[in-house]
Amino acid sequence: MHTKNEDLNCFGTNLIHAKTGIEGHFGAVNIPIYQVSTFNQEDVSNGGRYDYSRSGNPTREALENTIAQLENGVTGFAFASGMAAVSSVLCLFKTGDEIIVSHDIYGGTYRVLTKLFSKFGIKAIFVNMTNIEEVKQAITTQTKAIYIESPSNPFLHVTDIEAVTRIAKANSLLTIVDNTFMTPYLQRPIDLGANIVIHSATKYISGHSDVIGGLVVVSDEALAGEVKFVQNAFGAILGPQDCFLLLRGLKTLKVRLDQQQKTALQFAKWLQQQDNVRNVYYPGLENHPDHELISAQASGYGAMISFEVESTECARHILQNVQLASIGVSLGAVESILTHPATMSHASIPKEVREEKGITESLLRLSVGLEEFEDLKRDFNSVFKHYKQKALIK
Ligand SMILES: *Cc1c(COP(=O)(O)O)cnc(C)c1O
Repeated sequence: MHTKNEDLNCFGTNLIHAKTGIEGHFGAVNIPIYQVSTFNQEDVSNGGRYDYSRSGNPTREALENTIAQLENGVTGFAFASGMAAVSSVLCLFKTGDEIIVSHDIYGGTYRVLTKLFSKFGIKAIFVNMTNIEEVKQAITTQTKAIYIESPSNPFLHVTDIEAVTRIAKANSLLTIVDNTFMTPYLQRPIDLGANIVIHSATKYISGHSDVIGGLVVVSDEALAGEVKFVQNAFGAILGPQDCFLLLRGLKTLKVRLDQQQKTALQFAKWLQQQDNVRNVYYPGLENHPDHELISAQASGYGAMISFEVESTECARHILQNVQLASIGVSLGAVESILTHPATMSHASIPKEVREEKGITESLLRLSVGLEEFEDLKRDFNSVFKHYKQKALIK
């Protein structure tokens, strides 16, 4: 089992030289893909380090140890998807338990809570997590945990993680944080008092739109034992090939995000000047309501921007004509990805609920990739110009 990283290397160096706990054969500088299901047990009376890959696999363990160090946690776990990670964590709860959840969490998490775990009597109480009073008032004798996603999706609202973990601790509740949008490079929830960190590793940790995976990191040994039990019993593990790809993706996490954040800020500022654009939501903008809070608890603003354009037609026009950004769900990749939340990422939320949250058909979300700012600007500029001409002809 991994212990906390004692050395004083900076984050970017730890990405390359994290202690994996796995010795590479022949001095291999990367962890080999141990594409095996079972391990020969030389001494039957005294089992080997690995016996069966659902329970443990060296490539997976290398990834698990790496993410645990990067998040300053005790133990890491790799799952078959972000949702497998979320669902495995939710398996820690039982009938009658209540979990207080950000009302603007990822659509799939909302779905699994309200349509699947609800069947087993685990109740999600949705609150505006940015309102600490509302969080306090939601606590009952049945409450067992608080589940945060910050910044949230698509409006990038920021929750004061430390303030929530303080309330949680005072009431003996667990704090769970979905850290997908920030990554351990920009935000480390365990340092802010959280007990469990979840990632859809599909996004920034993979970084290349080539893996579906999930990661969990816990802050203490007791929780590590519980999650380990679920991982082995429920069995939603990540395969060795995908673990290898995530280890590879992680190495460039810092350089990717440094560049993506820089471009995101430039692009957000540029969007604010466009007359087809109504609102720009990016926490790196000084006029974002949570700018100060995120500056205090994270070391960057990420590379996700949401923006509202003048009409549904305008949003459709952009989706149909933009050249550089891929159109679709997902985020955090080297290529920019443009999403229409109402019909894509948040389609699993009922229409009435969605509109109550302000996710209209004229809202777009951009995951800024590694294309150069000048090219993204040129691309969107020509789309906006074309839309204006079309509107004039009408
Ligand atoms: C994508 C995503 C998930 C789900 O992850 P998958 O890898 O798609 O299963 C969970 N939380 C957030 C914030 C996400 O963006």
